[in-house]
Amino acid sequence: MKQLKVSAIREGTVIDHIPSDVTFKVVEILKLNSVKEIISVAANLDSKKIGKKGIIKIGGKFLGEEEVNKIALVAPAATLSIIKDFKVVEKNKLTIPKTIEGFVKCFNPNCITNHEEIKTKFHVANQKPLKIRCHYCERAMASNDIVLK
Ligand SMILES: [Zn+2]
Repeated sequence: MKQLKVSAIREGTVIDHIPSDVTFKVVEILKLNSVKEIISVAANLDSKKIGKKGIIKIGGKFLGEEEVNKIALVAPAATLSIIKDFKVVEKNKLTIPKTIEGFVKCFNPNCITNHEEIKTKFHVANQKPLKIRCHYCERAMASNDIVLK
């Protein structure tokens, strides 16, 4: 079997096992339009594990905690590899944090966080399927309702 080799990166991050349909959402989260090094984005690849998947490789970039948490919300099954000197030095599964602060918008138009300068806060009520509950108005949201700020 011949493997398709997508441009290797010397140093950076590889995000694999992204559900195909959210691949470009992850691109958006990471604001990859401002990265100057090699980026390769592939979607609709065959995956035994999840059907169709996407992979994103980003040269010269390591992700911050907030970026990792945002990706965990849209692609909880994704894996994150850190590359140094063309080798994988670390490979992690994403985990959804217990509380999510600051980057998810509350679904409830009457929620105080949509009217005042208050940092949003959600508690994760269920991981699979994802359900989060607003700390302020207690409205529950499923993954389809989640809008990132
Ligand atoms: Zn709320």
